[in-house]
Amino acid sequence: MAAQQKLYEGKAKILYTTEDPDILLSYFKDDATAFNAQKRGSIAGKGEINCAISSHLFQVLEAAGVPTHFVDRLAPDQMRVKAVKIVPLEVVVRNIAAGSLCQQTGLQLGTILKQPLVEFFYKNDALGDPLLTPDRLSLLDLATTEQVAQMRSLALKINQILSAFFGQCGITLVDFKLEFGLDHQQRLLLADEISPDTCRLWDQAETDPQRRVMDKDRFRQDLGHVEAAYQRVLERVLGIGQFLTDD
Ligand code: UDP
Repeated sequence: MAAQQKLYEGKAKILYTTEDPDILLSYFKDDATAFNAQKRGSIAGKGEINCAISSHLFQVLEAAGVPTHFVDRLAPDQMRVKAVKIVPLEVVVRNIAAGSLCQQTGLQLGTILKQPLVEFFYKNDALGDPLLTPDRLSLLDLATTEQVAQMRSLALKINQILSAFFGQCGITLVDFKLEFGLDHQQRLLLADEISPDTCRLWDQAETDPQRRVMDKDRFRQDLGHVEAAYQRVLERVLGIGQFLTDD
């Protein structure tokens, strides 16, 4: 199916229309950004790696009963997806304290949370993607109360499935970000991507706080070996190279 016109270009992906109005083509770029695009760079091979990881995880989730936008992987860096209207919320689930949770609450990096924490951020670059309170969520009317409840319960279900899946790969799922979209029937589908760009993943074979990092924090914090870490996640996810230690 030939790509037709560019519909939207984001920081990590480009969406193209196809001959079928219900199907879009998502092209995964090597471009990397962090800190609301204040830091920019490129990670060689990232597009293909993230497309492969995301495709695999979407299939794992579909098999467990989570509705997703995934159709198929058309090329190494191209995924066909169902056309949805993205809900402008970033749904973050956390199992272990890291990133903005530590910065905003003073919790120490690595603190295991009593129960998974679900947070809703407003997907709005101009405003710096602020964390929303429940009252602000209903004030902004970005989704109905039922849709918010559904996203929360899907996010927790996804966390259970992915935590178990990554656990089998020797990887701890620290936290991750989800985006949802509504299809023509107003059905909520998991959209966007699930990859080392959108998850914090720690190698269970490593105790060193820098060596264990297998995700975009390597880029954010200039830890080096970014592509190698992403590649290792892919190998673990695909069930090859399990529990390989660092070079
Ligand atoms: N995240 C993301 N996109 C964003 C913001 C966060 O994919 O625009 C992911 C991030 O990689 C991490 C989780 O969401 O896995 C929680 O991020 P956090 O709120 O701690 O913000 P950060 O420290 O990444 O800025």
